[in-house]
Amino acid sequence: MSQHLTSSTATPALDYLMSAAFPSQRAALTDLAAHQGLMWRCVCRTINSLNTDRCAQCEKGRLWTDDITPDDPENYGSLLENLRSILADWFDREPKERRPAAIGFRVTTQYDDGPAWATWDATAYYTDFPEGKPYPKDFERSRVADALGELDDFEQPQVHDTLLVVVPPPFAPKRPKEKGLTREYAYGISDYARAAAAALGDGWGADSGYIGAYGLLWGPGVPTLRLYVDPYEDLVLTRHEDEDAAAFTIDLPDGAPSYPAEMRAVGEAIAKIARTFLP
Ligand SMILES: [Zn+2]
Repeated sequence: MSQHLTSSTATPALDYLMSAAFPSQRAALTDLAAHQGLMWRCVCRTINSLNTDRCAQCEKGRLWTDDITPDDPENYGSLLENLRSILADWFDREPKERRPAAIGFRVTTQYDDGPAWATWDATAYYTDFPEGKPYPKDFERSRVADALGELDDFEQPQVHDTLLVVVPPPFAPKRPKEKGLTREYAYGISDYARAAAAALGDGWGADSGYIGAYGLLWGPGVPTLRLYVDPYEDLVLTRHEDEDAAAFTIDLPDGAPSYPAEMRAVGEAIAKIARTFLP
């Protein structure tokens, strides 16, 4: 997967799907979402969205979301991250497999070169089962096993000889942070202009205005356009070098985009307005 979404877009995306579905399809869609890990199923069977860690029905916590792997900063860091992402990829490529919230690997001595974490007989932990369940499949050894590493690499076998790896939800966990502050907007105004240029096609280009305060957009036979947020907090498009020119508002019914697909949709909306400038 090259593009990761986060749990905060999983919910709106599902909402779109739900609203587009017939009532008769919604139950199946909800089941599918839980199966794929896009929603989580509580032990009480209620299906909850990923942006909550407590069940909406019974308020029980979502199981297996915390990383309880013992710290071993020397050896675990990148290996565990690799293992998590490889597991996530594995489940993404095996859509028939229900995505667990965590996987436990047990110690085996059956490898030729001594003790290691076994990839078969892994234990899957689902959010609706407090206990782990034997996992019938082996993982693709070449990928998962490579990330597991030999036992020698760790100081000691882990909890009850099981390495428990919390599998990230289908969407990468966190937004980037900047200087300790949560970044509120994923895209700057010039990104909007570039998305519009991409939507408008050949001959169109875009750039950032001064200190990124606005975006510039130009195309064949069209005066340079300026994209900016007006004092009423509307996103507007106007002629760049004509102060008297009319400004056209671009509707953002879903708010500011946070992810590439949303940005593309906004780019299309801007492009639609920009075409009204065409001769
Ligand atoms: Zn519940």
